[in-house]
Formats: sequence, C-alpha cells, structure tokens
Amino acid sequence: MWELRGGEFSKVPDAEIIAVGSELLTHERVDTNSLFITEQLNALGVEVSRKLVVGDDRRRLTAAIRDALSNVEIVVLSGGLGPTEDDLTRDAVADALGRKLIFSQGICDQIEERFRRFQRKMAEINKRQAYLVEGADALENPRGTAPGQWIETNGETGGRIIMLLPGPPGELKPMFTDQCVPRLVRHLPPQVIRVRQFRVAGMGESDLDQLIAPVYTKYTNPATTILAGAGDIHVNLRARGETEEEVERLLNEVAPPIEELLGDRIYSRSGDSLEAVVGNLLRSSKTTLSVAESCTGGLFGQRITSIAGSSDYFLGGLIVYSDAMKTALLGVDPALIEAHTAVSEEVARAMAAGARSKTGSTYAISITCEAGPRSATAAAPGTVFLGFASEAGTDARKLHLPGDRNRIRNLAAQSALDFVRRKLMTT
Ligand code: AMP
Ligand code: MG
Repeated sequence: MWELRGGEFSKVPDAEIIAVGSELLTHERVDTNSLFITEQLNALGVEVSRKLVVGDDRRRLTAAIRDALSNVEIVVLSGGLGPTEDDLTRDAVADALGRKLIFSQGICDQIEERFRRFQRKMAEINKRQAYLVEGADALENPRGTAPGQWIETNGETGGRIIMLLPGPPGELKPMFTDQCVPRLVRHLPPQVIRVRQFRVAGMGESDLDQLIAPVYTKYTNPATTILAGAGDIHVNLRARGETEEEVERLLNEVAPPIEELLGDRIYSRSGDSLEAVVGNLLRSSKTTLSVAESCTGGLFGQRITSIAGSSDYFLGGLIVYSDAMKTALLGVDPALIEAHTAVSEEVARAMAAGARSKTGSTYAISITCEAGPRSATAAAPGTVFLGFASEAGTDARKLHLPGDRNRIRNLAAQSALDFVRRKLMTT
C-alpha cells in the first residue's frame, strides 16, 4: 500500500477542523482558532471543506473524528488537551483510530521541568498530558504544558494526517506555523498559490457583487472571495496551479476585467489600508492635511494617526460638536448655521475652510452629519456632508449612509478618507 509517511498526497488534500470544548457552544466563547487554521491552510492551497464545534463529550467527539477521517485527508483538532477530566481529545482520537494511548516519560519530565521553572510542583493530573496516541509525534509547546500531536495513518481510503493542537490561541498559533506547516508542506504536491487583492471604498457589498459577479462566477480558479467591512470591501482572487506561469495566466485573465469594472473605486492593490493610501499620497506630494469633525468626534483623526509617521503630513484636527464651537474655533458664521443648519453643504464648506486657515494645512476635510437615532436638525439620520478646502477653494459631498449611529459614524469617517483620496488623485 502507498505509504504517506515521507510521501506526498497524490492530489491536493482537503481538510476538516474540529474545535473541541463545551465553552465554545455557549454564547460567551467563540471558536477563533479555526479561522486562523483556515487562513494558514488556504495559504498552502488546502481547502477547508467543513468545520465543527464539538463539546467535551468523548462519544460525540470520537464519532466526529471518524466521520472527518472518512471525508478528508487532513483533520485538525483544537482544544481538549488540558489536564482535567473534560479534556478528552487524546482519548477520542485513540478511540477513533483504534489505537492505544501511550505514556511518555520524556514528555512527563518536560512538563515537570516546566512547573519547576515557574517554582511550582506538577499536579498528578498533569500526567494525563504526557500520553501520546500510539504512533504520534509530539509537537513541542514552549508556551504551555500540553504538547500537540501529529499523526500520520494509512487508512482504507488512503493517507491521513491528524493534528491535535492546544486550545489557547497563543499556544496553537506558533505551534501551527512553526511545526505543522513545515511538516505539512512535505506531503503536499508541488503547487503555486498567488492572491491578488483589490480594496474598494465608496460602494456597498451588494452593488459591488452585482457589478463583478458576471465576471468572477465564470471561474472556480482563481477563487474569488468578497470580504465586506464598513464602507470597505476586499476582493480576493486566489489562483492555484502547478507553475508560476500558469497561475499568472489565470490571474491575468480574471483580474483585469474586474479591475476595469471597479475603476477608481479601488484604493489599494497592495493591501494598504485607506488611511495609509491617503498618507502616501500626501507624503509624496509634500502636502499637509487637517480635519474638522463634528458627528465623528475624532474618528477621522484616530484613523489617519494610526499610521506611523503620519506627523509628516497630518497637522491636527478640531472636534467641533456644538454650533458655538464651530464658530469659536473655526470662524463659521452663526448666520450661516442659522440659515442652513449645522448639517448642510454650506457649513461643511465653511468648516473645511476654517480648519485650513486655522492650521495652515494645504488641505482640510470636514465632516458634519446627523448620526441619529434622533435628528437635531431637519436632516434625516444618515445625512452626511463632507467639505474639502484647498488653495483652489472649497468643495462638498452629500451622502446618505445606512445603519445605526455607530455604523453611520464609521462610514462617515471612511467616506471622508475616500473623499480626500479622490481629491488628491485629481489635484
Ligand atoms: P482547552 O485546550 O480545551 O483546555 O482550551 C483552553 C482554552 O483555550 C479555552 O478556555 C479557551 O479560552 C481557548 N480555546 C479553546 N478552543 C478555542 C478555539 N477554538 N478558539 C479560541 N479559543 C479557544
Ligand atoms: Mg477545553
């Protein structure tokens, strides 16, 4: 029979992930390990075809492992390697494979040594963590007591790899990247994976999907995924192939038509955030920016200053929440506010012009909106005016943003960043 040990899978294998722990079935804890593991596996070209959350129940867990082994080549388990009675992953894997658990004096000594280093005495129950499934390799765990386990089998349906990983993310992550990935790579057929990403602002998820779906749905390779945040969408094209040329050819077929459809709504092709893109544009044109914020209360300033080195181009901002402060700090004429209300194009322009003249920046952006839930002005919640001031004068945008107060505020800051980006690209 074909041996997996030292050998390759004859095709790219699929994986299932089983997150073990009754706490993960409550509303208080969520399984995040599987997200990390999926990201890592996808980067190697391995798809996750299913994932499960199973409580601390030996019979159910054993059944889940058996089922996974009958479906896929790679089974990754996280959690249930602790020292207590409810940590049953070792037992369940042994049951599922019909193998014994074997005590390792070496691992027991290591655990004891770890306790000694922390000036503590190992409890008797920790010996449970020194049991390996027959035939398993131990995976070192420098950050915790429980070692992981790596098992290779040759079942009736072909080679299988089973990984037992500790639950705490701080232990699981380094174990996976440092020990599991290098081992796994040896068993994978040679393949090249390349991802191309477009980051898009100023568009809703369903509009974007409607626009580009006619292109990407024609292809399964590259696989297209759309990740949507508040006013920020990432379109990922992931291509797999045997050679660099093949993968580039696939991407060059699908990416350009998508790129053309999205046009200048794409703000980044390199994975940079919107605030980083705006920062780069300001730095390369040796210009500076300031902001006057009303409803966003500093969100714009927070984002733009999250980039190291932003002091090169960001001078500062004013949070002018009340009408009186708009007048006192920015010199907005009270008669203008009286005539048009604070949430108006006229006031947005005056705020931007005021920020520019008070700070001496090349450009200034202003944000004034009705964040809701109740309206203080005539404007409906979600009504936003953005102002922009430069040497050439002022400009403004009116937007209607959906959602609750929190979402409206975040979308307003995002829209303001994108407004600045578009202005900088055309001036
Ligand atoms: P265990 O290895 O089952 O004893 O898990 C120890 C701790 O790791 C749990 O209390 C959780 O805080 C954390 N944990 C376990 N499984 C997961 C998971 N799938 N995602 C995130 N955290 C987890
Ligand atoms: Mg547990």
